[in-house]
Amino acid sequence: MTAPIIGIHHITAMASDAQRNIDFYVSVLGLRLVKRSINQDAPDVYHLYYGDETGTPGTAMTFFPFGRAARGTRGSGEISRVAFAVPPSSQLYWTQRLRSFGIAVDGPNTQFGEPVLTFPDPDGLLIELVFTERQTLRAPWKQGPVPSEHAIKAFYGVTMNLSDAGPTEEVLRDLLGAAIVSREGNRMRYSIGVGDHAAMIDLIADATMPHARQSAGSVHHIAWRVTDDASEEYWRSKVEEHGLAPTEVIDRFYFHSIYFREPGGILYEIATDNPGFTVDEPLESLGSKLVLPPWYEVHRSAIERSLPPIHLPERRDLQ
Ligand code: ZN
Repeated sequence: MTAPIIGIHHITAMASDAQRNIDFYVSVLGLRLVKRSINQDAPDVYHLYYGDETGTPGTAMTFFPFGRAARGTRGSGEISRVAFAVPPSSQLYWTQRLRSFGIAVDGPNTQFGEPVLTFPDPDGLLIELVFTERQTLRAPWKQGPVPSEHAIKAFYGVTMNLSDAGPTEEVLRDLLGAAIVSREGNRMRYSIGVGDHAAMIDLIADATMPHARQSAGSVHHIAWRVTDDASEEYWRSKVEEHGLAPTEVIDRFYFHSIYFREPGGILYEIATDNPGFTVDEPLESLGSKLVLPPWYEVHRSAIERSLPPIHLPERRDLQ
């Protein structure tokens, strides 16, 4: 059986304040809050999922907002930037939009021939908008504040900071099937995935970089996308045969996952398309209320009391 990695499934990061996180990703970036759930390993912390209209794998950026968490510090062994693909004709729109929110924007700078705007989210996580013809197949959130012709389409890719790129490259290439694209300065670019779903993975190696300290503003893990449970089992065996240590398959309710740490220190997940975000709410009302995995329902009132109140931005604020 061959079941290639399709691309990125989701990326999960840590944040501090939940409402500030929602205000940024919904009101500023125009992503849809597609799921308001809890961290299954710490149910007094939200798990917020943002994405396109349906939270299609490849668009889902998720956060654990830990409240008063201190900021992490950048370093090696982590994903240092998350890049989204936007249409090439939207450069002026996004430059003006981000400035109108008072966001400090760096760029446009050219990376591998494409213009890129870089700016921090409220916790200092660096976000990039890449103006690109890639990722054309995605349908943005129709009710969102950003007009469809300018909306974020999907993940473009990520930048990984490493003390030594070699072992990370080996896993990307020989295990996950990534292909080298090009090198520019100290940045090495790999492509991982199938066709239009493929993501760009940039590696920056610097042996003098201190190790990252992960907290608010840090990426927690990246999940690679596979179609179904049979593919998941296939990849679990492949990871094990490669000498890495995957977890058992874990039921994340919206997808099924394994996790393993790659040798550069970054946590990888492999997650399935099934069952998806509409398994417990209809498409129209995704993200409008707190949903819990069924095995947590018995604790709902205690969980609700422990979580800070949050709200979606009013329609009139979405412009
Ligand atoms: Zn995950």
